[in-house]
Amino acid sequence: MKAAVLNQVGDDKLELRDDVTTTAPGPDEVRIRMRACGVCHSDLSAMDGTLPALAPGVIGHEGAGEVVEVGSAVTSLAVGDHVLITFVPPCGKCAQCASGQSHLCLVHTLAAFTSPRFVVGGAPAFGYAGLGAFAEELVVPADGAVKIDNDVPFEIAALIACGVMTGVGSVLNTAKVEPGSSVAVIGCGGVGVSVIQGARLAAASRIVAVDPIVEKHEVAKKFGATHATTPEGVADLNNQLNGGMGFDYTFDVVGLPQTIRSAWDLARRGGHVTVVGAGRADAMVQFSAQELFLHDKTLHGSFYGTSNVRRDVPRLISLWREGRLDLESMISKRIKLDDINEGLQALRGGGSLIRQVVTFD
Ligand SMILES: [Zn+2]
Ligand SMILES: [Zn+2]
Repeated sequence: MKAAVLNQVGDDKLELRDDVTTTAPGPDEVRIRMRACGVCHSDLSAMDGTLPALAPGVIGHEGAGEVVEVGSAVTSLAVGDHVLITFVPPCGKCAQCASGQSHLCLVHTLAAFTSPRFVVGGAPAFGYAGLGAFAEELVVPADGAVKIDNDVPFEIAALIACGVMTGVGSVLNTAKVEPGSSVAVIGCGGVGVSVIQGARLAAASRIVAVDPIVEKHEVAKKFGATHATTPEGVADLNNQLNGGMGFDYTFDVVGLPQTIRSAWDLARRGGHVTVVGAGRADAMVQFSAQELFLHDKTLHGSFYGTSNVRRDVPRLISLWREGRLDLESMISKRIKLDDINEGLQALRGGGSLIRQVVTFD
């Protein structure tokens, strides 16, 4: 089958190969034929070493498809089921899962680093984040495939699998934004507009989108931002909207020290700062010892939107069904797997792209 392979961390292109196979599904695993996969910024982060990835490996993690084979012990899924895949499959048995923090379950996540589930040119290869969705087929633990109704388009389900879960989840699950509050969102890509949509769902009264790319401002407004500005313009808006006192909630959706610092500075005393952006392990952010206590702010990391996929996938799908979550408009472009390198290059360039989706026929 065809798959896009990262030969070495640091490569800026994936190698498209047609001699890739999956391993046979183990007793608790399923094989899935991919039908749609979003091109997420974390795929670039895997390639450039910002996020941990094993090479050679198949990149891609925001996907949905159809179950084509189930392992002998799998009872929760059947051939023909439509599923989205998650990079944090909840095992359901560990302390994190038992305490309601299944997004922090490490059981399958760690196993993924020792379980190559692809064969490339006769040698074992890994799937990025335990997945590897830029491939026509993949094998995952059954816990990592969440069944969806057959009438949900695969491309809609794919967006929910990473960007929307992360962005909307950071608002509803991590920050728990209160109605009427003021919100600033730094970074307006696929996850950023999901944060904006989450803030709208939470009935925030003011939602300020911050992005240096001016073309993204109108896009952000379409998804619910009440105001949009560049990083240089945000101080003026803070003066105008909050009397200069800061926002109730701020979200960094970039992951750079300067944007995290801005999110901190833009929050009011007693406000909430949520870090959604995936930064480098060696990028350091500075806070003074005094401001940490004096300003009484909450600084909150948000991994995968503090989500519980078994609870939140159905929730997000019903919000989409009722027209309260606009996922169709997030799809800027549909591409083929053959065009993945052009798609990755377009994402690197920024622009007004929200999500490109790889579709498989
Ligand atoms: Zn992602
Ligand atoms: Zn667990």
